Amino acid sequence: MKAPLFAYVRARSLAKALDLLEKHGDRAKLLAGGQSLIAMLNMRLAAPELLIDISRLRDLSGIQVQNDSVRIGALTTHAEIERSDDIAKHLPLVAQAAPHIAHAAIRNVGTFGGSIALADPAAEWPACCVALDARFTLADRHGTRQVKAREFFKGLYSTALRPAEVLTHVEVPIPGADYRAAFVELARRRGDYAIVGLAALAKSTRGALSDVRLAFFGVGATPVLAKSAMAAIDGKPASSGAATAAAKALDTDLDPGPDLYSSAATKMQLARVLTSRALTTLAA
Ligand SMILES: Cc1cc2nc3c(=O)[nH]c(=O)nc-3n(C[C@H](O)[C@H](O)[C@H](O)COP(=O)(O)OP(=O)(O)OC[C@H]3O[C@@H](n4cnc5c(N)ncnc54)[C@H](O)[C@@H]3O)c2cc1C
Repeated sequence: MKAPLFAYVRARSLAKALDLLEKHGDRAKLLAGGQSLIAMLNMRLAAPELLIDISRLRDLSGIQVQNDSVRIGALTTHAEIERSDDIAKHLPLVAQAAPHIAHAAIRNVGTFGGSIALADPAAEWPACCVALDARFTLADRHGTRQVKAREFFKGLYSTALRPAEVLTHVEVPIPGADYRAAFVELARRRGDYAIVGLAALAKSTRGALSDVRLAFFGVGATPVLAKSAMAAIDGKPASSGAATAAAKALDTDLDPGPDLYSSAATKMQLARVLTSRALTTLAA
């Protein structure tokens, strides 16, 4: 199939993109890496009247280490994140997740902000942002506002972004040196979206885990922070007993529906398996 007819403008500045968005509202769509949007147009799942190409706005790209956080521009590609020494040093969870996103050709073009704005329930970046308690900066013609990742994802492909807003950058708090990260996912083939995945982070002190974060994806409409499982492990030695307690608590936290390939029961079982693997890594 071919995309329906649309007008196209390459924005030369963020201000120009915001003007156009204000004027055209939800009849316009931003084009970043195009790795999801172009497919959606071709399948006629989206039919905007206007595409506003923001892909050349260099101000929205790049990775900067600040005092206690890393600032990642919305147009930073998955591959730039994967290759970044700063990400590897300060955000190991993000570094571990990057190679799981699609294939190298897609990672070279697809963007961090595009993935977050799209909010696919099986995507890696939204879950990492929830686990790391990241903050998103959203701009419109009148100013900016910040929304926490944990409040941003509202439902299936639905977020707190308003039609006239652009996600400009993400600030990710740098976990302390005593934190460990574990990113695990199960997919049918390398490069596919996950069937189930888990972005996990915890402070590890002499074998005991605290400030545990377990952000699942592929198990619901949005990333899910498994609060009961987190509480079941917090402050306890990361033994097999903790894994068993966490796995049991997941029944309260997760209520996955089936997808094309896996039943709800399979997804629950995979979530338990991933929890056990992640806890082993966090405690190592
Ligand atoms: C074969 C294939 C496999 C894939 N596998 C995975 C995978 O395993 N995991 C994964 O996470 N992704 C996967 N993807 C998707 C890929 O990561 C996309 O790059 C990403 O989801 C969207 O980023 P983009 O820059 O291409 O955005 P685009 O496709 O350009 O845009 C996507 C949506 O976000 C909006 N948007 C983009 N940027 C902004 C912004 N700054 N502010 C507000 N709105 C914005 C657009 O208007 C559009 O609605 C896959 C894609 C393909 C084609």
